[in-house]
Amino acid sequence: MDDFKCRVCGGDMKNDYKAGLRYCTHCGNKLDLSQADEHYKDYENIIKQLNSAETAALSDNNDLKTVNQALLAYKNALTACSLSKPMAQVEELKLLCREEVEKYTKRSRFLAAKEHFENKAYTKAYEELKALGDYAEAAELAEKCAAEIQKERIKHLPYSIFAGLILPAILFFVLKEKTDISIAAALAAALTAAGLDIFVIYRGGALATLLEILSYILLVPLLIFALLAYVFHLSTALSLGIAIGAPLIIVILLAVLAERE
Ligand SMILES: [Zn+2]
Repeated sequence: MDDFKCRVCGGDMKNDYKAGLRYCTHCGNKLDLSQADEHYKDYENIIKQLNSAETAALSDNNDLKTVNQALLAYKNALTACSLSKPMAQVEELKLLCREEVEKYTKRSRFLAAKEHFENKAYTKAYEELKALGDYAEAAELAEKCAAEIQKERIKHLPYSIFAGLILPAILFFVLKEKTDISIAAALAAALTAAGLDIFVIYRGGALATLLEILSYILLVPLLIFALLAYVFHLSTALSLGIAIGAPLIIVILLAVLAERE
């Protein structure tokens, strides 16, 4: 574009596609781009797409829906650039559109994370925000997320300790009854498992959920087994059979009854 010279002062002229102007970088002399550029017709379609994207961007009121509309409009403008015949103006427009697509992609992700935050899905929001990197408001919100996650963990701690003790308790029983190792060794193994268990459940995530569900499922059989084997002194095999069988039968009966109604 350097070969466009200002008729007033001879300075270099540049295109401002968004404003639809060709202006002098030296004296500020302005021309209507559609009149000044003889190739305007060749990229007019891209300008139209860009303008509609700008309109969508102007209505951006901090909500995800309008931001996504603007993003889509900029993507359409970028596609129009790729379909256009190659020329310097189109290259400039492509750069412009790419910048906006990048900016609105980040903005869209940020607002999505903000929505997660408002819906109290703090872990999800936190992951999104971390992926955004150095986006302006991301760090501040990520910090808030981290604080909320910490609060939830502390609130969750009694449950995680409770759930975290059930599987190690079962491990302890099995080691004590089924192997020759000493009670001290069985206890040590169970305590190690308990520590790991509580830590995993406290940290959260898919594995934590799995451990927690497993713990609660096994809680009832564990209590029945302990009662039968250590209070009523039934044999290990019989206690185990009843401990596993009885809850299963009750669950099946309940399911059958629910089906009938
Ligand atoms: Zn000039």
